[in-house]
Amino acid sequence: MKKEKTNPKQCVLCHGIKLNYVESRGWDDLWECCVCKGVFAWPQLKYEELEQYYDDVTDLDYFSKYKNEALRRAKVILDFLNKKRVKQEVLDVGCGAGYFLKEATDQNWRVEGIELSKKVIERTKELGEFKIHQGEIKSCLDQCPQYEVITAQHILEHIHDPLTFLKQVHEKLKPGGWLVLAVPNYDSWMRQWAGMNWVLLREQGHLLHFSSRSLASLLKRSQFQLVYQTAPQWNALDLIWAWRQKGKVFELKEKESQQQGGVQKRSHEWVRQIVDLLAQPFAWMAQYRGRGGELLAFARKQ
Ligand SMILES: [Zn+2]
Repeated sequence: MKKEKTNPKQCVLCHGIKLNYVESRGWDDLWECCVCKGVFAWPQLKYEELEQYYDDVTDLDYFSKYKNEALRRAKVILDFLNKKRVKQEVLDVGCGAGYFLKEATDQNWRVEGIELSKKVIERTKELGEFKIHQGEIKSCLDQCPQYEVITAQHILEHIHDPLTFLKQVHEKLKPGGWLVLAVPNYDSWMRQWAGMNWVLLREQGHLLHFSSRSLASLLKRSQFQLVYQTAPQWNALDLIWAWRQKGKVFELKEKESQQQGGVQKRSHEWVRQIVDLLAQPFAWMAQYRGRGGELLAFARKQ
């Protein structure tokens, strides 16, 4: 039987009560808050309902697909923090396959991670021996000491109650400590062009969708001072792919992987490289205009 949809009473992010319906994702609806401009899915699927989804995303291929992007992001994050002369000590919440932990370790950082999936933790052993707390984020954080830096890369959009999560992260940071967040950019050209065909908008586990404004607003309400925010477009080819989706009606295809990055999959390597090179200025433009596919935010504990 089809699950009955109800209208949300308040914003998941700020508890504001003036809300606008945006669009349906089939299994849930997207709503926008008039106060903080955050977009959230309603009704929120419970963790148990998302179990199949999480089983799929902990499939080992899932992480390989995002490896290049994860490594590039890791370098940008560490460069920024190194320039600020931050003490090299980081907890990576939702560390996944461990690409960030590996890059930070190579740069002599002391690293720890939190990860739910035992299967995924096994995978990190290919990259090195890391201290990883296994379990739900909340209970793992409870047992952790304080850190200079906490990163949460593509985690926040999965969280049912982001305010409580950020409050807990705030407690686990040393005075003046840094929080680094990466989330999909709801205001990105990719979302604007591809709409529901953009895989990051459609992922069931993505309960929240942030713009630079709503992310800044959430950080402020969680007692963080936003120091720097940028919107990188890691993959120029994805931009071309999104452009080609303009005006296309969304239909669920059998193989998810063929939808995004179609240019990469179907073409010869040399064609892919040339197209990537030609598209690069558009990726820079996207970032410059705040329209890249990701939001990357650096904030300090107040
Ligand atoms: Zn709100």
